[in-house]
Amino acid sequence: MNGPDGKVSLIVHGGAGALDPGDPDGAAHVAGCQAAARAGHAVLKAGGSAADAVVAAVTVLEDDPLFNAGTGAALTEDGAVECDASVMTGQGAAGAVGAVRDVKNPVRLARLVMERTAHVLLVGAGAEAFAARQGVRRLEAGALVTDRMRAKWQAAKIKATTPAGGGTVGCVARDAQGHVAAATSTGGILMKLSGRVGDSALIGAGTYADDRAGAASCTGLGEAFMKALGAKVAVEAMLAGAPPDAAARQALAAVRRAGGDGGIICADAAGRVGFAFNTPGMSRAAISTAGVETSGV
Ligand code: ASP
Repeated sequence: MNGPDGKVSLIVHGGAGALDPGDPDGAAHVAGCQAAARAGHAVLKAGGSAADAVVAAVTVLEDDPLFNAGTGAALTEDGAVECDASVMTGQGAAGAVGAVRDVKNPVRLARLVMERTAHVLLVGAGAEAFAARQGVRRLEAGALVTDRMRAKWQAAKIKATTPAGGGTVGCVARDAQGHVAAATSTGGILMKLSGRVGDSALIGAGTYADDRAGAASCTGLGEAFMKALGAKVAVEAMLAGAPPDAAARQALAAVRRAGGDGGIICADAAGRVGFAFNTPGMSRAAISTAGVETSGV
């Protein structure tokens, strides 16, 4: 951790993968990432914490039907949306939810797990009951299913394709006090079995933060990120002195050895941001400590 020096930065991703024919183009994904980055940055500029910022940015992406998280999430084999999300602060607080249905903003529920329970991860019916006790409104069954995702599900059923990801969202940030945080949210992979929980719900696999080093959020084949502990490997690399880009590349190499591809965004304790991906694309947007915006797909 570099201490309270007023420097803020963040980077968001809108998922690693390839766009399907008929999907909105890359520019639309970049615009969505930019809107999320600006929302998170506004929180940081107003003195908000890195945790506030990553949750704000990921909430914007969950509400954008273009991305596979919250509204517009990918469907399970039986045609339902089951979301995973997690958040971690560099001070060591963490919360997550897995396979939750009909909750508009899973990342906010993950934050409630972090702040209001003694646990790190709640799943399925238990997570939904916790949401109800916290006053989180339950949507009507199927409310998060978009026409575009239903069409993909129908096409996948006809073609009997294997499960595929894409469009997961995440954000890592560094706040003015020198703290970092990471958050990730996803509908998982299209045609996954009901009850499957991926890396995006798992601290160390899809999300990790440590004020001594930095924060990381992952996207890609969750099973490989789980076996390689992709986010933890990226943060460990920053702890050992690697800049964020190199740390992301090192972690991706470990993920590939575990049999998967994807992308990782990182912010280090000094506020430098970086990323790497080994898929055809990964939409993203960043705002540096100098206030410079960059983006790509
Ligand atoms: N990592 C996500 C999962 O396996 C999918 C993705 O990032 O595309 O659930």
